[in-house]
Amino acid sequence: MNFERKNPLTGELASTSTAMKAGDMEAIAQQAQAGFAVWSTFGPNARRTVLNKAAIALEARHAEFVDAMMNEVGATANWAMFNLGLAASMLREAASLTTQIGGETIPSDKPGCLAMALREPVGVILGIAPWNAPIILGVRAISTALACGNSVILKASELCPRTHSLIIEACIEAGFPEGTVNIVTNAPADAGEVVGALIDHPLVKRINFTGSTDVGRIIAKRAAEHLKPVLLELGGKAPMLVLDDADLDEAVKAAAFGAFMNQGQICMSTERLIVDLSVADAFASKFAAKVKTMTTGDPREGNTPLGAVVDQKTVTKVNSLIEDALSKGARLIAGGKGDSVLMPATVLDNVTADMKIYREESFGPIVAIIRAQNEADALGIANDSEYGLSAAVFTKDTARGLKVARKVKSGICHVNGSTVHDEAQMPFGGVGASGYGRFGGKAGIDQFTELRWITMETEAGHFPI
Ligand code: NAD
Repeated sequence: MNFERKNPLTGELASTSTAMKAGDMEAIAQQAQAGFAVWSTFGPNARRTVLNKAAIALEARHAEFVDAMMNEVGATANWAMFNLGLAASMLREAASLTTQIGGETIPSDKPGCLAMALREPVGVILGIAPWNAPIILGVRAISTALACGNSVILKASELCPRTHSLIIEACIEAGFPEGTVNIVTNAPADAGEVVGALIDHPLVKRINFTGSTDVGRIIAKRAAEHLKPVLLELGGKAPMLVLDDADLDEAVKAAAFGAFMNQGQICMSTERLIVDLSVADAFASKFAAKVKTMTTGDPREGNTPLGAVVDQKTVTKVNSLIEDALSKGARLIAGGKGDSVLMPATVLDNVTADMKIYREESFGPIVAIIRAQNEADALGIANDSEYGLSAAVFTKDTARGLKVARKVKSGICHVNGSTVHDEAQMPFGGVGASGYGRFGGKAGIDQFTELRWITMETEAGHFPI
């Protein structure tokens, strides 16, 4: 059985993929376990070689990736190529980690006892990735896990199964032993059962999930029944604080990029511009002027900064956020409601806590300006959210920026930079409803290895009984 993904813009067929069922997961898990038995015996340089080849194989498929992302999720070529670049960098970073999976020797009170902390591969790792930055997030779900000697099962998003399958095809071409990298594709209606069967399977040892907070909760609960560790990278409502001494031109550039790159469909997207009252009018007028230049168009024509949003549901959701805010006194200063997946970049000023857009993740091309009385008020508003993934602070006083950044409740905060910023070697992750655990660089090694205490006695034993 197959299932189809339609192009969100044209309604034409974008891809056809195998609709696997829960009953198929036994064979996948066994196959992954067989891959683990071989791959975990590879030395660090052998693993590094394959991961580096995977980066090259990924880049070689750039035309196929751009085509798949445009057709499956309406992405611009620009976004697809950025995805490819960062994903290749993640594979190379993972390759570099293979010789960094260190342990330690620990002084023991027992004479002649050599005590060690060793990191070992865990086994089969399940990675579940969403559609919005599909190459980056698909690769992120598997790369450090592979570097640590585990085998992986990538559960593809139903919205971009072809894009996710291309990642696994590139990995297989790079020479991972059979069964080391695996893909599961399923029809949307089967997601719960298929993911459930994988989490329940005794050979699946750990899970990482990138997606919505609601589904993250379902996954965490299911994994908890088996006491399996989970890494959760969930939703966000990133604040950007514009303090009274901010460079407004720099703030405008970062806000426009952060709010509208990939039509605002990034977990780190700037969703709340919290602007000091003393500069709010000046900021709002400069920002509205910039946003009015950010047009939306057919991504296949490739001449607009914004492409299509992923589906009609997003159009309905963003339109309802606009209606709700306007009915409660917000001011529309750019864009407006959309009548198709080609939505305009929209800015609402004077947003207040009673409006839905103040709290709900929009995951679309819309941003709220919230006016703050002063720095303390701005911080209070920034932290008045269940989410805590990324954040930004703009001020010309960098020491002040650092102090404020440390008071924002989030996993990530940038002083005088955009909320949208990711690099393979950085510890990436959130707090609160944005999840827990960290991908990236050495932080990822903790997530994908078992830390064990091993001792070796070198003298005759003395026991009390
Ligand atoms: P989603 O949660 O709807 O889907 C993600 C995955 O969950 C899909 O593979 C889907 O098959 C699976 N799924 C759906 N229902 C399920 C169920 N009942 N049981 C088990 N699995 C199920 O998320 P999405 O719409 O694809 O992605 C958008 C969300 O992802 C946004 O909230 C965004 O902020 C978040 N996101 C977070 C990060 C991060 O790094 N923190 C990155 C990108 C996106």
